Order: sequence, then C-alpha cells, then structure tokens
Amino acid sequence: MGYENVEFEKDSVFLVTGGAGFIGSNLCETLLKKGYEVRCLDNLSTGKKENVDMFINIPQYTFINGDVRDLETCIEATKNVDYVLHQAAWGSVPRSIEMPLFYEEVNIKGALNMMEAARQNGVKKFVYASSSSVYGDEPNLPKQEGREGNLLSPYALTKRVNEEYAKLYTKIYGLDTYGLRYFNVFGKRQDPNGAYAAVLPKFITQLLNNEQPIINGDGKQSRDFTYIENVIEANLKACQAPHEVAGEAFNVAYGGREYLIDVYYSLSKALEKDIEPNFGAERAGDIKHSNADISKARNLLGYEPSWSFEQGIEAAIDWYKENL
Ligand code: NAD
Repeated sequence: MGYENVEFEKDSVFLVTGGAGFIGSNLCETLLKKGYEVRCLDNLSTGKKENVDMFINIPQYTFINGDVRDLETCIEATKNVDYVLHQAAWGSVPRSIEMPLFYEEVNIKGALNMMEAARQNGVKKFVYASSSSVYGDEPNLPKQEGREGNLLSPYALTKRVNEEYAKLYTKIYGLDTYGLRYFNVFGKRQDPNGAYAAVLPKFITQLLNNEQPIINGDGKQSRDFTYIENVIEANLKACQAPHEVAGEAFNVAYGGREYLIDVYYSLSKALEKDIEPNFGAERAGDIKHSNADISKARNLLGYEPSWSFEQGIEAAIDWYKENL
C-alpha cells in the first residue's frame, strides 16, 4: 500500500511539467522528500509562483519558467532526465468548450513536444496525466479501460489524442509511456478560486467563508473523488512499470462513488456550517456518473490506493482551514 517503499536509484532525475500546479507541486514535494533531483517546467499560467518558491532553496530543485508549446524548451528540460511526469495542461471541461483552439495548442501540441523531447533525450519512462473524461458518454459503471464512449468536450479529446500519441511513441520509437486517467483529484494546494475551480476545494472554502455554494444540476451526480496521495503513488509506481505494459492507459481513482449532494452535506457537517446550497444549471460536457474500475492499475502497476475519500477529505479540510 502507498508509496513509502517505492525507491529509485539515488542519482535519479525527475522532470515534472506543470510542477507549479496542484498535482505537479505535490509530486515535486514527494520526490524532493525522497531525496531525488527534481526539475519543474511550468509557465505559471494556471500554476502559482508560491508552489515554486516553497522549494526554490532546496539544492535538488530547479525551476524552468518555460512553455511546453515550445519544442526547444522541452528538449532542453529533458536533457539527462530519467523520468518525466507530464502534468502541464489546461484543465476544465467547460473552459475547453469556450476555447478549443487553445486547448489543442497546450494539451495536444504540448504533450507531443514533451514526448518528442523525451524520445530524443532517451528518457527511461514517460508518465503523463490523462483523464476520466476520455470515457465520454459511455454509460456503464464502473468505467473500464477499453470501453470508452463518444467524447463530450475538446478537453476530453485532447486527453484521448495524448493517449493515442503515447501508444504510437511506445510502438514506433520504443519510448515507455504510461497514461494515468485521473478521476476528480483533490487535496492540498488545489486552487479553490475562479469560475473553473474544482468542486471540492470550492465548496470547502465557500463554506469556511460562510458563502452559499452553487451545485450545478440536481446534486445527484456521482464521482470517484481521489485523494492526491493516491495519485502520487500511481505516478511513482508507473515509473517502475515493466516495458511490457508501456503504451497503455490506466484508471487512477479510489474506486468509490460519492453523490455530490451527500458530499456537500458531509462537508457542511464537518465544518459545522448550516448553509443550504443553491442549485444552478447543469454544466455542458459534464457526465452524470463516474466511478472507476481500478483493477488494471492494481494488477499491472501494483497500485493499491491507501487513502479513502473520508481520510482525504479530513486532511484536505485541515489544510484549507490553515491555509485560507
Ligand atoms: P493545475 O492547473 O493546478 O496544474 C497545471 C499546471 O500546468 C499549472 O501549473 C500550469 O501553470 C501548467 N501549465 C499549463 N500550461 C502550460 C504550458 N503551456 N507550459 C508549461 N506549463 C503549463 O492542474 P492540476 O489539477 O494539477 O492538473 C494536472 C494534470 O492532471 C493536468 O494534465 C490535468 O488535465 C490532469 N487532470 C487533473 C484532474 C484533477 O482532478 N485535478 C483530473 C483529471 C486530469
């Protein structure tokens, strides 16, 4: 369980793209704690400078302020790197519907540049963030790799294209790629602000500020909310995955299913707030239910998520209370 015993050669070098963001900064923190050299490549577009400043005095940490849309930057950043954890991308389904061309540039071209740079520099493993959105309108639960439906947003399309390129890079060029289909990740440093913020940090901070949160739709949608520590475990274990399973994508979730309305009332209770939510319109591109079958990651990567939704929520609430 967990990743405590996942170790690499002492002089291993990791490149985390999007390392100034929520998931990337948590990956950087764990790798630095384990004593490895970490490079962070980020253009600080949705990421935060404070997520870089917190590590900048650690000798094993280097920050490259650069854009994955620029191939030369990607080639420079991957020199002498053993493992790439590619997280840089723009998230949010509704925002991608508003600006599809931009998503193509950052999420598709950016990922392709990174794969090409990794190939040219002989990187050992290329692990990248995909998303549960690749399941599109496939109605069956739990979501299972190999059973995908029609896509519902440009964001989902960018992630599917990433997976297709990654499969090709493994097949044609022998680059070991592993796609991680994250399901609604939450935890410390996730941005609660802005129109496109994820629902959990938004609810927590609004409740803490005594504001009335808005639930899009009727609240009866369900999600497989996944605590950040489980995502870190999946990334580290993917870096040690065998060559035989390269080119594949894996669900990364806890394997549970929470209804948004229940989550709302549990949060209100935990925060001792008695605020009724407002109900708004459903969001375009959203799916009603999502819950992952994690047996593929369990069997092929040795992924054994050790943080339940409840444990994660408790830790996240503590963090937001201290850091708001
Ligand atoms: P985030 O916005 O906090 O982090 C993304 C980081 O990428 C930011 O620091 C941003 O500045 C950086 N970035 C964006 N465009 C860039 C560019 N052109 N060049 C360099 N850096 C750039 O988002 P996150 O929640 O940490 O997501 C990380 C990855 O996980 C993304 O690929 C996202 O699509 C994927 N993902 C996240 C979730 C989730 O629940 N958070 C779910 C599924 C997939």
